[in-house]
Amino acid sequence: MRALGLDLGGSKLLACVVDGDGTVLGRAIRPTGRATGPEEARRLVMAAAAELRETTGPFDAAGLGFPGEVDFRAGVARASIMLDGWRDVPLADQLARALDVRCVVDNDVNAAAVAELKCREAEPPGSMLFVAVGTGIGGAIVIDNRLWRGHTGIAGEIGNMTIDREGLVCWCGRRGCLNTLASGAAMEQRRGGAESLPEQALHEAATALGIGLANALNLLNPALVVLGGGVARLGPRWLEAVAATARSEAFPAAGPCPIELARAGYDAGAIGAALLAIEATTTAAPPARGAAAATGTRTTSGGLPPAR
Ligand SMILES: [Zn+2]
Repeated sequence: MRALGLDLGGSKLLACVVDGDGTVLGRAIRPTGRATGPEEARRLVMAAAAELRETTGPFDAAGLGFPGEVDFRAGVARASIMLDGWRDVPLADQLARALDVRCVVDNDVNAAAVAELKCREAEPPGSMLFVAVGTGIGGAIVIDNRLWRGHTGIAGEIGNMTIDREGLVCWCGRRGCLNTLASGAAMEQRRGGAESLPEQALHEAATALGIGLANALNLLNPALVVLGGGVARLGPRWLEAVAATARSEAFPAAGPCPIELARAGYDAGAIGAALLAIEATTTAAPPARGAAAATGTRTTSGGLPPAR
């Protein structure tokens, strides 16, 4: 089976046709911006899908990673801080109708975590905290090798964990969130770009992230922490600074958890979205079984990851 994986971001839409092994068979990109609302996004998806149907061939399902709050089971994109004009959009239904295939929508970091799990298939971690450090910081929680989305779907919001109550105001309106100290945007604000960060600023950002991770380690006690996103390209010296703080600040029994850089690359969000679509399509009960099937409740959604 092949699926169209879509990673909708604040600067681009990445569309990939992906097979069940997570291999990318074809790729199309369309530019986006903060003003990319639901209608424009659907237009871009249709254009990318048409291009890929032409160049790579047909696909049987589609999945989209959305940069914001998502109700996975309902297929609704609730809100985004990166894109304007999104409020409770039934995106999965709209794309399913437009593309004429089954469609799922999930948070973009959840999608990237699914791609990361695929890369680690030979040795599944069991439990994993995946943290994407980009312009903002997002997280995904994996328990028993499946996403844990939380009661209302926002589990993993580590970027809005309070580190310093007297700190800078975050986009969420609160003060001193991890986002304001350790994200790519926070680093850029300090030194005009993460690439040119002097050692001290890099160390401060890494320390803040380490404190956030230590709190998460105490709470979740995962078998593995994986750091991805654009900032993770800073590489080993950043990773080592983050990990050293996380280990020293965490409860001793939680501290020894391995903290690694992501194995899934640039296409992770699109690949993960496609894999979620394939999973939903291959494990779901036959459609048109009435309202329960349409809303994807646990009894009729088969292997869809239950919202625990
Ligand atoms: Zn915040």
